[in-house]
Amino acid sequence: MSVLVLVEPGEELSLQALTLARDLGSAVHAAVIADSSAASSLGPYGVSTVHVAEDDRLSAYAPAAWAACLDQLIDRIQPDAVVAAGTNRGNEVLGHLAARRDLPFAANVIAVGGDGSVTRVRWGGSLLEEARINSDLKLLTVAPHMVEASTVNGAEAAVESFAPDLTDADLVVRVVEHAETPSAGVSLAEAKVVVSGGRGVGSADGFGMLEELAGLLNAAVGCSRVVTMAGWRPHTDQVGQTGTKVAPDLYIACGISGATQHIAGCKGAKKILAINSDAEAPILANADYAVIGDLAEIVPAITEELRKAGS
Ligand SMILES: Cc1cc2nc3c(=O)[nH]c(=O)nc-3n(C[C@H](O)[C@H](O)[C@H](O)COP(=O)(O)OP(=O)(O)OC[C@H]3O[C@@H](n4cnc5c(N)ncnc54)[C@H](O)[C@@H]3O)c2cc1C
Repeated sequence: MSVLVLVEPGEELSLQALTLARDLGSAVHAAVIADSSAASSLGPYGVSTVHVAEDDRLSAYAPAAWAACLDQLIDRIQPDAVVAAGTNRGNEVLGHLAARRDLPFAANVIAVGGDGSVTRVRWGGSLLEEARINSDLKLLTVAPHMVEASTVNGAEAAVESFAPDLTDADLVVRVVEHAETPSAGVSLAEAKVVVSGGRGVGSADGFGMLEELAGLLNAAVGCSRVVTMAGWRPHTDQVGQTGTKVAPDLYIACGISGATQHIAGCKGAKKILAINSDAEAPILANADYAVIGDLAEIVPAITEELRKAGS
């Protein structure tokens, strides 16, 4: 059994993907696109050979071109599975690969068994699904931060370059510019006040009102796993068992139900204020204060009162 893993240079989630991939095959091949800087460090993660796709046109990320590289490596290596990290890129590239090969693709996998059985995280982490991938070649991505990256030995991986055959169509969609996001002022792990949002916030834009409140309180903004899985906030903002553990003086949980995995990350808070429309939400068992109602009304009202008090 052999497995091919797409490795994104500098991406820790790729090391988690390599760790899970070892359960799929005794021969682990890694594919890196254009940037071979990490190739020599992959041996300890069980990689026997690193295949480096080299083409000047690959200097900018191009999802279809990356999929073409994997497609051509599959013909050469004949792996039983192709694995990528559950990053935006990993999921996008394997989506393209699945379309090219007309194969099923399982995202957010956290464990693999025999006969193509996989355990997947669904519904923002509230459900674990047992599924089976019914194809000879299995395509899957590994759910972020659900598998701990580990090394197996100190062996060196062989590094082999190859020139992929790319068409103009493979390069139509590509990165042309990088825009930096402004850095947040207060770090989540050290903030004295954390304003955190869950599914109840409703959208990425909904976090605007939490940002505003956090700004007045010199607080950091956190969130639940549902929020990071939906792509509303980055994983670095996630509080919980598989996120950051916080211990602020005050933790304001807005539209967060209070699952045990979330509480694991905020139970160190001195005081918890829950804002929730459900008077029966489990978070209330851990909260020191609660406001029952729609956060879209309550959060702006608190912000307004703070502004009045400060002016
Ligand atoms: C292995 C594993 C690890 C996990 N790790 C984490 C982790 O690190 N962190 C984490 O957070 N979760 C984690 N989870 C997921 C966790 O089990 C829950 O699914 C998740 O925390 C639920 O997020 P939520 O509270 O935002 O969403 P929900 O459970 O859907 O709750 C939404 C809440 O918002 C309220 N609400 C809805 N609309 C409004 C409104 N307008 N105003 C006010 N309230 C409203 C609802 O009453 C509800 O209480 C993990 C799960 C697994 C299986």
